[in-house]
Amino acid sequence: MINIAIDGPAGAGKSTIAKRVAAEKNYIYVDTGAMYRAMALYLYRLGIDPDDSAAISSHCGGADITIEYRDGVQVVLLAGENVNDYLRTPEVSDMASRTSVNGDVRVKLVQLQQELARRQNVVMDGRDIGTVVLPDAQVKIFLTASVEVRAMRRYLELMENDESADIDKIKAQIKERDERDMNRAISPLKQADDAVLVDTSDLTIDEVVDRILSIIDEKIGGGN
Ligand code: C5P
Repeated sequence: MINIAIDGPAGAGKSTIAKRVAAEKNYIYVDTGAMYRAMALYLYRLGIDPDDSAAISSHCGGADITIEYRDGVQVVLLAGENVNDYLRTPEVSDMASRTSVNGDVRVKLVQLQQELARRQNVVMDGRDIGTVVLPDAQVKIFLTASVEVRAMRRYLELMENDESADIDKIKAQIKERDERDMNRAISPLKQADDAVLVDTSDLTIDEVVDRILSIIDEKIGGGN
């Protein structure tokens, strides 16, 4: 199977880019952040305190998370319920960033991710895909952008949905999540030694997609 790993901080454009690359290559796109978000939603609904790691460890095993693809779109099911619409709220984002530091949460979700990659050609995005989940991936990309650019992208996204947004607040939130993702003890956000760094600050989406497609061609050839 062909495995392509795309890692990087929040707001670097991973999911947009990974989705496009997967469509171009006819591979399955696996959004691992959505799995951490589904786990967070499960724990949030149970009223678990995100700082109570013992409670997270004892409850995470009960989360029944499965992934399906409907018309090419990843659908995350929590005990059979399609929870895609609940995964992007600020509460769930914060809970996901806090509960993903837990080793038991990670073991469970990494297993699910590795199973998906064993069965099909995937473009998988996350924080630890090239380092921990798919260390043998044929292609590894580390996608970054400056904090300013990432905050502006998020700001524009919120404005588009008519939500009020404060650019300084967004920047502070992004910095806080980066800090937590990079400094956690288990599977921190880190560029794999054999990953290619792509800084998207001054590139359009098309330019980033083209660059990644040519990196893939270089590494594994143009076929599927
Ligand atoms: O990528 P996304 O923002 O949806 O991820 C949500 C949270 O899940 C992140 O803040 C990060 O802490 C966590 N995550 C992770 N490992 C991954 C993907 C996401 O720890 N592979």
